[in-house]
Amino acid sequence: MYEKYVKILKDHTLKVTSPRLEILKYLDEHHIHPNVEEIYSALKKKHPSLSRTTVYNSLETLKKNKIIRSLTISGSELRYDIEEGMHHHFICTQCGAIIDIAISCPNMDRTIQGGHRVEEVQGYFKGICKKCQTKEKGRNNNG
Ligand SMILES: [Zn+2]
Ligand SMILES: [Zn+2]
Repeated sequence: MYEKYVKILKDHTLKVTSPRLEILKYLDEHHIHPNVEEIYSALKKKHPSLSRTTVYNSLETLKKNKIIRSLTISGSELRYDIEEGMHHHFICTQCGAIIDIAISCPNMDRTIQGGHRVEEVQGYFKGICKKCQTKEKGRNNNG
């Protein structure tokens, strides 16, 4: 069950620790771009002895090794995402959901042509997510 994550850590010559594994698993299974607090409270349910500092330090290590990445979308708050190639994000202005959008960016191709190496893309779209639209429709039909 954790083999996949053990392999990722070993491939990066990182020590395999339980918080690191739990964080990877959580981010892999929840593509909701959680912040530190959300990751911490989710993992704490299973591991009551886990400290916020450990979660924070593990996130930093995983980030430094480019296994996960952080996004600063809503203000200064860091949101974490498992690294699965570059993708864009759609932010719902109503419920705050951050949804992955798998499209390639034409601007990025241009940048690569200029000889630069893109390591991070921070572009995002804003709008109303499908869920919120459905809710809106429901409201209109009822009223
Ligand atoms: Zn929404
Ligand atoms: Zn993402």
